[in-house]
Amino acid sequence: MELYRLTVHQARALLEKGEISTTELTRAVLDRIDAVDARVKAYLTIVADRALDQARDADAQWAEHRKNGTRAPALLGIPMAIKDEVCTRGVRTTAGSKILNNFVPPYDATVMEKLNAAGGILIGKTNQDEFAMGSSTENSRYFVTRNPWDLERVPGGSSGGSAAAMAADEALCALGTDTGGSVRQPASFTNTVGLRPTYGRVSRYGVVAFASSLDQVGPITKDVRDAATILGVIAGHDPREATAANLPVPDYESALAGAQLIAPLQGVRVGVPREYFAAGLQPGVERAVRDAIRVLESLGATTQEVTLPHTDYALPTYYLLAPAEASANLARYDGVKYGYRLEESNEMWEVMRATRGDGFGAEVKRRIMLGTYALSTGYYDAYYLKAQKVRTLIKQDFDRVFAAGVDVIVGPTSPSVAFKIGERVDDPLQMYLADVFTLSQALAGIPTISIPCGFDQGLPVGLQIIARAFDEERMLRVAYAYEQATEWHTRKPSL
Ligand code: GLN
Repeated sequence: MELYRLTVHQARALLEKGEISTTELTRAVLDRIDAVDARVKAYLTIVADRALDQARDADAQWAEHRKNGTRAPALLGIPMAIKDEVCTRGVRTTAGSKILNNFVPPYDATVMEKLNAAGGILIGKTNQDEFAMGSSTENSRYFVTRNPWDLERVPGGSSGGSAAAMAADEALCALGTDTGGSVRQPASFTNTVGLRPTYGRVSRYGVVAFASSLDQVGPITKDVRDAATILGVIAGHDPREATAANLPVPDYESALAGAQLIAPLQGVRVGVPREYFAAGLQPGVERAVRDAIRVLESLGATTQEVTLPHTDYALPTYYLLAPAEASANLARYDGVKYGYRLEESNEMWEVMRATRGDGFGAEVKRRIMLGTYALSTGYYDAYYLKAQKVRTLIKQDFDRVFAAGVDVIVGPTSPSVAFKIGERVDDPLQMYLADVFTLSQALAGIPTISIPCGFDQGLPVGLQIIARAFDEERMLRVAYAYEQATEWHTRKPSL
């Protein structure tokens, strides 16, 4: 088997035995990037020399661990792809925007510090929609990333680069960020696993802010076990980030044990929301998801129809709150403090106007305008405050279902399979609809994962599994049991 195809846990087993070296593994991944990334275009920045230096270091550390019989950190020598929304010390971080085209962070995001401490090797920064606003990676100010399953189609977004890198085996694991679906929807479009943690499970410190009450970092991986591993590494309290919950981090990987049993889901109650099978859902997607639900039943789960009556309001609520928060967060890009500056005159306001006018793309400007409007005097109560109230109703829908004894809720991740490049760029509403099923969990702050569950017209379909706040373990167990019983996640595009 080619080394670049390995999952994190497979590579780790080989590294432990000394059957492969980190340098070989890193070279294999860099060669793979050379072979396919001109077509896929997953990466904005590749740091090959830095990665090989780190690999040499990791090899020395592995030799020590093997000699002394000590346990190596979880990701020692594992090549990683990181979404460009995440600050990396000394490595350019653009968030897909022109306004940050020259920004080299002097510090690491907390999630990066944790990955580095676990021994992970940064391979590069992945392409994304500008400031994570989008569902196709077409809003990147640099170039469009292509779906490895069909190069004429989008990989989803906004973490499309990370998802494409996983599908094309251009790293062993990846990070994305999810504000309203940006980890899960690209995972579903590329036959990969994407996990959005509970709001507060993972620190946002050093992650370029889009909508602070919604943003979460999450792993995009080749299988569920790797998602559990990465979540365990990046989760936890952070004194630098007030919303990062001060709770112990479970051992997510051990939580997966038992999935090999005959009926691993015995006693698990699965809710199937009526509202997630509404008009607009592609028939082929519905078929794959219904089949997946039958697999869960065959593993011992009991299923029941549930209702989340405010589902229809998730989209308008999200598109008031997210732009409102974005309009405030993006005020910091003024051409003065850092990043891009367009200095056509020496008058301060002119410089700011020119910098923001050229530095931001159309979708970002649309959101700043929407958000500023929704927050302005006279409209605040009618829009922002109203949306906050509806957000509570959406959260209460989930509370009610879980309080009635349902353990996890399942449904489609996206109403469609990957669409064609260019198909939705001129119609923002059509683009927004790609996330109808992923917005409400983000508004409710609860964890959710997308895993491969089949194909429609040769393109991957994702199954979404949703759990109570801070109950990632149960969600991962259900996902893992399904994955063990199926082979969808092993399918690879031919490139
Ligand atoms: N597609 C949604 C948006 O454009 C969600 C993006 C995200 O999760 N970052 O806002």
